[in-house]
Amino acid sequence: MVNDVLLEAVEDELKSRPWRLRFADEVEARFEEDTQQQRSRNMAVAGLISAFIYSLFLINDYSYRPDAFTTALLLRAGIMLPFGLPILWFVYRGVTPVLREALMASIVIVATVLSCLIFVASLEPYSYLDVFSFGLILVVGNIVYSLRFGYACASTALSILIMLVFILVYEPMPPEAKRLAMFTIFANATFTLVANYRLEHSERTSYLHVLREKLRAGNYFEDNQKLSQLSITDPLTNIANRRHFDTVFPLRWQEALEKGNYLGLMMIDIDHFKAYNDHYGHLQGDHCLRQVARSMQVNSRDEGDLVVRYGGEEFVVLMSNAIPEAASLAAERFRYSVEALQIPHHGNPERGIVTASVGTAVLRPTALLTPADLLAYADLALYEAKRQGRNKIWVASVNKMP
Ligand code: GH3
Ligand code: MG
Ligand code: MG
Repeated sequence: MVNDVLLEAVEDELKSRPWRLRFADEVEARFEEDTQQQRSRNMAVAGLISAFIYSLFLINDYSYRPDAFTTALLLRAGIMLPFGLPILWFVYRGVTPVLREALMASIVIVATVLSCLIFVASLEPYSYLDVFSFGLILVVGNIVYSLRFGYACASTALSILIMLVFILVYEPMPPEAKRLAMFTIFANATFTLVANYRLEHSERTSYLHVLREKLRAGNYFEDNQKLSQLSITDPLTNIANRRHFDTVFPLRWQEALEKGNYLGLMMIDIDHFKAYNDHYGHLQGDHCLRQVARSMQVNSRDEGDLVVRYGGEEFVVLMSNAIPEAASLAAERFRYSVEALQIPHHGNPERGIVTASVGTAVLRPTALLTPADLLAYADLALYEAKRQGRNKIWVASVNKMP
């Protein structure tokens, strides 16, 4: 049911989002849940690589900006790393989506500010060359981190603004170089934002396809399970039906044969049930059947016993690994449990309540016997219990036969 609602929402997204990125709330929540861990890890790894490259720029600082090398060292190693590395750790450990994107975007902005401070700290003739590599910061934020598009746009806009201010106020840079630098930065921003948008869009679209298939597969699986459960359940009493018994009986027989275990079969038939129906009507008869079935289910062993509505007012209990003594005790327990329901029955002349007769057969399967033999013995035992006056049990201990 929950699946169906989500599936419908996913179908809607696939139909109605040619360009939109963010999903409707319930799909977005699922998207985050499914992708958060991987995304956080990817971001942390991307962050570490970027931190390494950012620190490598110290080589440039040293070679063509010796007058500001100390400043560069202080800003790169003393501020950028202590600021960025803990953020990567938090993101790696997992934070809310908003915080994750905001923190990663803040790294981009701080890197921009620090890079600008480094280049303006020097009066060396080539110091401003760095400005042409500022585009790399946008590449990192928009493509390597792949910030969500909104955050990518915001951090790019802010970074450009900061870069422009520093470029404009830095006197030693020739105006032609400033113009080219600004153009390069704009172009870079545009290309990386287009790429960022495309990356997010295709990530989201393929996620929707995968989720749709997953949900559909889940629904097929559930439907199938429901159907197969239905096909082996008796609709009136909700216990196993004859079809299920016919499948399970030969399997349990074979298992007992291989292990040399006993196999017990109990047949339970409600006494004078026709008279019950005649007197109380079929609806009340159905109600009575449900009560009896329930009490038998309650009285059975969870694993070893299979309680089945065999047909009409007849039930069978297939008892794996039940020694004859235990099987007779079980038969008495089942008989008593029906009597204990104390369902009034005017058509039962001797007792005035609903009772059942129980015939049980127990044997160790051998190659000379078949499941049908066990069934026939249990049937005979039931017949004997009826003959003994009903509300009786009869146990045919076939294992004592040669
Ligand atoms: P006995 O003590 O010898 O077992 O007598 P009985 O009347 O129980 O046996 P019989 O086989 O003559 O009658 C079984 C009755 O069970 C006949 C039918 O009306 C009733 N019955 C079978 N299936 C259902 C059912 O699904 N619902 C109801 N209400 N009655 C059913
Ligand atoms: Mg009957
Ligand atoms: Mg009967």
